[in-house]
Amino acid sequence: MSEKKIIIAIDGFSSSGKSSMAKQLAKSIGYRYIDSGAMYRAVTLYAMQKGLVSPGVEPDTEAIIKSLPEINIGFEVTDGGQSTILNGSNVEKEIRSMAVSQCVSPIAAIPEVRHALVAMQQAMGSEKGIVMDGRDIGTTVFPDAEMKIYVNASAQTRAQRRLSELIDKGVATTFEEVLANVISRDHIDQTRAESPLRKAHDAIELDNSTMTIEEQNEWLLDTYRNIASQL
Ligand code: C5P
Repeated sequence: MSEKKIIIAIDGFSSSGKSSMAKQLAKSIGYRYIDSGAMYRAVTLYAMQKGLVSPGVEPDTEAIIKSLPEINIGFEVTDGGQSTILNGSNVEKEIRSMAVSQCVSPIAAIPEVRHALVAMQQAMGSEKGIVMDGRDIGTTVFPDAEMKIYVNASAQTRAQRRLSELIDKGVATTFEEVLANVISRDHIDQTRAESPLRKAHDAIELDNSTMTIEEQNEWLLDTYRNIASQL
């Protein structure tokens, strides 16, 4: 297999299983994994802590833009994977709450927020050897990535997966609430003016609605091996 390090961009809808696949691939091939959605979630959590947004209330865009220089986001590698660090605190659990999920997409639609996070993401990939997942990784963050995957699955399948994860974490919610959140985030992510979610022309599409986690992981590793063997 080629020793040349590449950039792997994995984009797709919320709860499409792309993060689990991306994380597993990074582990298998010894690459760094970055969850770009966690960065948008961390900015959202900061805005919530400052009272600049809350579920059902429009974000205070001007104040959020002004507070961007105060927001420091990093990742810490742990036994179970990776934790998101916001201004020195581990916020991995808090950023996954339903409240953050309800507020994140309008904040991710603010161009200044995107410019700041895209610059950080590009810096993280400057040495390659990285798997990054998100919505605009193959289109905007790394348009020259050597491997691009676009993951999709039906909204019902994704809501069911997300519900199981939330129940496992002890979060009280219903299928209807999770489905409504998935559909609303899909809509905002696809229709925003600044780098909307869309398939890059050179991305390989995967609909994993009927695949098991093992099948997806195997498909992704095979796809990587195939691309790497041609470099
Ligand atoms: O991936 P995850 O669902 O955790 O991302 C949370 C939200 O962050 C998405 O619904 C989307 O609005 C935003 N996001 C984005 N661009 C990315 C990653 C996430 O706009 N690259």
